[in-house]
Amino acid sequence: MSRVLIIGVGGVGQVVAHKCAQNPDVFSEIMLASRTKSRCDEVAAQLPRPVQTARVDADNVPELCALIREFKPDLVMNIALPYQDLHIMDACLETGVHYLDTANYEPLDEAKFEYKWQWAYQERFREKNLMALLGSGFDPGVTNVFCAWAQKHHFDEIHELDIIDCNAGDHGQPFATNFNPEINIREVSAKGRYWERGEWVETDPLSWSMTFNFPDNIGPKKCYLMYHEELESLALNLKGLKRARFWMTFSDNYLNHLRVLENVGMTRIDPIEFNGQKIVPIQFLKALLPDPASLGPLTKGKTCIGCLIKGVKNGRPRKYYVYNICDHEACYREVQSQAISYTTGVPAMIGAKMMLTGVWKGAGVFNMEQLDPDPFMADLNKYGLPWTEVFYDE
Ligand code: NDP
Repeated sequence: MSRVLIIGVGGVGQVVAHKCAQNPDVFSEIMLASRTKSRCDEVAAQLPRPVQTARVDADNVPELCALIREFKPDLVMNIALPYQDLHIMDACLETGVHYLDTANYEPLDEAKFEYKWQWAYQERFREKNLMALLGSGFDPGVTNVFCAWAQKHHFDEIHELDIIDCNAGDHGQPFATNFNPEINIREVSAKGRYWERGEWVETDPLSWSMTFNFPDNIGPKKCYLMYHEELESLALNLKGLKRARFWMTFSDNYLNHLRVLENVGMTRIDPIEFNGQKIVPIQFLKALLPDPASLGPLTKGKTCIGCLIKGVKNGRPRKYYVYNICDHEACYREVQSQAISYTTGVPAMIGAKMMLTGVWKGAGVFNMEQLDPDPFMADLNKYGLPWTEVFYDE
């Protein structure tokens, strides 16, 4: 029996709300909050049981503390944007409540995501005997748990890791992003980076590609090397790791649109002067693009996200692939969202369940691979994200 405050009710927050509401034994009282209360009410009306809603600006720490003191949650789930991470962590520390998020902190004025800002909270969470679980989505999130599972059960040492994220779905729109457009475009247009022999190697944005043959009739697709935040914690926590990379599929159509938008300056994150006022081009672009939450009924096809791992077991080389397939239309039937929001929202609910039931506990700031993967892997199968593993003979 526990109380959870969910902050942010966009594409992902909607799925989190549904999945928590489906599990009343764990999430007995739920509150949905964001700056737009009408959106919280709209999602609340979709749910199978009553939940509370509230308006809050999570960047305003005193306002957030007042809401936390009034609702008295056991856990705050930050499903808003990476910009809010530190403010919500501050409010959790001040009010003595556990914290969970799905994406690491990113300053508004610099397209740069790093764990250093959130890892700096380690001592403060420890001292207050509170737990902060970072990155409980799919990637980061499930991908970290896949690595911990592989490390625990299948490898003595992991040497090479390729995280491969494929969205083989089609929403029929000329150009749209599957989650928050501003965060998505900042991530995709940034320089690539991978870990090799103890060092970070930088690549030009989307300049490296490979073709990977995806399972479940998805077939071969071109994947592009990108930097992704879980590489930072995995490079520290997977002992013996020699190389770690992250790949994502993009259609030629998506990349062509992105290139044109970049060339004309529409993806800039610095303010420009327009008709006597300051606007940030990428924020204006976000206002024009389809809301990712609106893609739910339109998207068909599947996603496939997994980890391809090479290493050693019992003195012999081993190659292993663990992945999940998720169907956009099946997600929509269950929670009125597409699979990108679903694959993020389900692990957020499972991470929260692990914390609230005390299966995962600890004082301090944790990345997902630092906790026991077994109960989380079992829950993925139970709550809609079943996984498959393949061992290749070497
Ligand atoms: P959306 O833009 O659809 O939703 C964001 C939500 O946050 C909205 O409800 C918005 O409502 C709310 N919000 C924004 N600013 C504030 C604020 N200051 N105070 C309170 N609420 C706020 O984003 P998504 O649902 O697509 O993404 C949510 C998070 O999930 C992001 O951090 C994203 O990076 C992460 N993500 C993680 C993935 C993973 O696998 N780990 C994959 C995909 C996404 P309002 O503006 O009304 O306040």
